[in-house]
Parts: sequence; structure tokens; C-alpha cells
Amino acid sequence: MDYKKHIQIVEDWPKEGVQFKDITPLMDNGKVFKSAVDEIVAFARQKDIDIVVGPEARGFIIGCPVSYALEVGFAPVRKEGKLPRDVIKVDYGLEYGKNVLTIHKDAIKPGQRVLITDDLLATGGTIEATINLVEELGGIVVGCAFLVELSYLNGLGKLDGYDVLTLTRY
Ligand code: IMP
Repeated sequence: MDYKKHIQIVEDWPKEGVQFKDITPLMDNGKVFKSAVDEIVAFARQKDIDIVVGPEARGFIIGCPVSYALEVGFAPVRKEGKLPRDVIKVDYGLEYGKNVLTIHKDAIKPGQRVLITDDLLATGGTIEATINLVEELGGIVVGCAFLVELSYLNGLGKLDGYDVLTLTRY
């Protein structure tokens, strides 16, 4: 599948100098979106996943249909102040800006096999922070899956030793 045909590049958004890859046209198209989800599900099926974890907000869009297909749970990673019960948190740097991510303390049980999903891998900061949260709770990250990789930002450099699937690259 040629996913790039369905990804729109938006210049200088959300700020000058950033070339934003907009995946909403890909999601608008049911066949293309299904194909992307199916590829990630096929990758995950080889790994005996117990739970899918995705960071807000587009990690939910990818992760939830994958967890549904695998018949496993989904645990959200959210910005500070959004999850209602006890959380652990981590600071991280974005391609543009800074952030804090949190996860419920009881979201992952020690030893659970975790697939992490997001729409896009840029610098890798978001996914590194998400991995840190999962591992602090005793989860085993057995795979990370993304629709898009911005290889010029070298996010893969932060994912050494992890099994990573990216469906298309810039
Ligand atoms: P990273 O932490 O630098 O790898 O940035 C990845 C995170 O920022 C992901 O959660 C993406 O949703 C978001 N992001 C960064 N750049 C883009 C983009 O060009 N398109 C869509 N999302 C982006």
C-alpha cells in the first residue's frame, strides 16, 4: 500500500520550520486505514501481546483498533492532569516543545507483554517516554509500531534493541 499518497504535508505547522505530516486523509479512507491497522496487527500477532499502550492522542487512534483485533486491552498514556487515579509520570522533549506523560499505576501488570503504538516517530522522545513508563511498571516492550517514521530525525536511535515496525518513511 502506498500510504504516502494519503498523507498530506503541511508546511510551517504547528510552527515555522516544521513540516507536519497530516495522517487524517489516510484515516478518512476506510480501506487504507484498515490496511495500515492490519499490517500492525500482523506484526503484533507474532509477539503474543498482552496489552497495547499508546500516547495521546493519535497513539489511541492506531492502538485501539489494533487492541480490538487482538482481543487484548488498551492502556492510554496521557498528558499530566488527564488521568483520574494514581499515576507515574515522566518528562520528555518533543520535536516542537516539552511535555509530561503519565500512566495509571495499575495499567500494566509486571511481566505483561506490551505493544506500543503511535501515528508517527519523529525524534523518538514521546515513544522513549512511553517505554520508560511501561518498563517502570514492569511491562516488557515486545514491539513498537508507527504509521510514519521521519528518518531524518533519527528516532530509531532511541529505540535500539526494540523491535520496531514503521509503515512508511520520509
Ligand atoms: P517525537 O516525540 O519527536 O518522536 O514526536 C512524535 C510525536 O509527535 C507523536 O506523538 C506524533 O503524533 C507527534 N508528531 C510530531 N511530528 C508530527 C507530524 O509531522 N505529524 C503528526 N504528528 C507528529
